[in-house]
Amino acid sequence: MKLRSGIDLLVQQRAQEVARTDAELLELYEKKASRGVAVGRLLNRECGACRMTIGATALAEISAMPQDDIATCPDCQAILVR
Ligand SMILES: [Zn+2]
Repeated sequence: MKLRSGIDLLVQQRAQEVARTDAELLELYEKKASRGVAVGRLLNRECGACRMTIGATALAEISAMPQDDIATCPDCQAILVR
């Protein structure tokens, strides 16, 4: 019984964590969308939003980021979809 409630608590915390991250991402997205730039697909070192080629240094930084982290374009600040 004690173990069971411990698992429930973990699941609950995880759900809250996900909800919080989604809210932050949504807020970031809306802030960027209001400026005309929201999200771009990173394709062949090129930002899908502004079509600028991302420099080697910035690209290396983006590549080093965890997949669930939010990468942004150094030129237009669009969220980069990797
Ligand atoms: Zn860009």
